Amino acid sequence: MRYVGRFAPSPTGLLHAGSLVAALASWLDARAHDGQWLSRIEDVDTPRCLPGAAQAIQQQLARCGMTPDGAVLWQSQRHAHYQAALEHLVAQGWAYPCGCSRKDIEATQSQTVARHQAAVYPGTCRIGLNGKPARAWRLNVQAVQQALGWPVITAWTDRRLGTQEQNVNEEVGDFVLRRADGLWAYQLAVVVDDGEQGITHVVRGQDLADNTARQIVLQGALGLPTPKYMHTPLVLGPNGEKMSKQNGAQALDLHQPLAALNSAALALGLPAAAADATVPQALARWSQDWAALWHKA
Ligand SMILES: [Zn+2]
Repeated sequence: MRYVGRFAPSPTGLLHAGSLVAALASWLDARAHDGQWLSRIEDVDTPRCLPGAAQAIQQQLARCGMTPDGAVLWQSQRHAHYQAALEHLVAQGWAYPCGCSRKDIEATQSQTVARHQAAVYPGTCRIGLNGKPARAWRLNVQAVQQALGWPVITAWTDRRLGTQEQNVNEEVGDFVLRRADGLWAYQLAVVVDDGEQGITHVVRGQDLADNTARQIVLQGALGLPTPKYMHTPLVLGPNGEKMSKQNGAQALDLHQPLAALNSAALALGLPAAAADATVPQALARWSQDWAALWHKA
């Protein structure tokens, strides 16, 4: 089986224990399938990126024995590709400009739905801007689904979480492809780049599972294949919240790569490596364990 996987960090800070779990899982899955493991720097949201963080992340991964099997893709250099994708969607009649502010959208809801603090977009500008200036570009989800003959409920099988489904139109609405500030939206960049890199298997943290249905719809709209998905367990910080730079997660201690890897392995249900094991020995053992657990899934 052809297998191309990837790890796609945002360079908003160094890797922490939570992001190492996703990195290790994607690396082990690629090794267990005799596949390729590619890397992509998701620096499309440039105001949030820290100078030097991408290089520091690559050094952290290398200290943990994980180096990509090919050139690293940088989203900040991919503007022309995202633009071409948007133009294709516009030409099909599947993308439209939106003049709504966040306040406009929230005013249409009786109560704001608590999904990443974002309200469901009600499709206001599908029929035109009504004199407002264009701010963002959105995907017409229903138009894509109808053209492809797809159901309104997008269903997929996550290798770990099992059957998942979402009615994108009702639960999210027509989502943004290009933001009001001119930056490319995460969903568009990820789908175009997964296509460019030929990704067959996405292994990433469970906090990203909620994006999958939107990405599947966008893959269909762009004529791209849908990879297999696996979402890995989240590591919670001492306060019980998701680990993130925002809530003070510690960067990994690179003087103790095996200790950091052991914690990540335990979070993935793998046995800790012996204290005297080398990093390559530990990775080789975990690759076998991972294959036994997940190869068929
Ligand atoms: Zn609008």
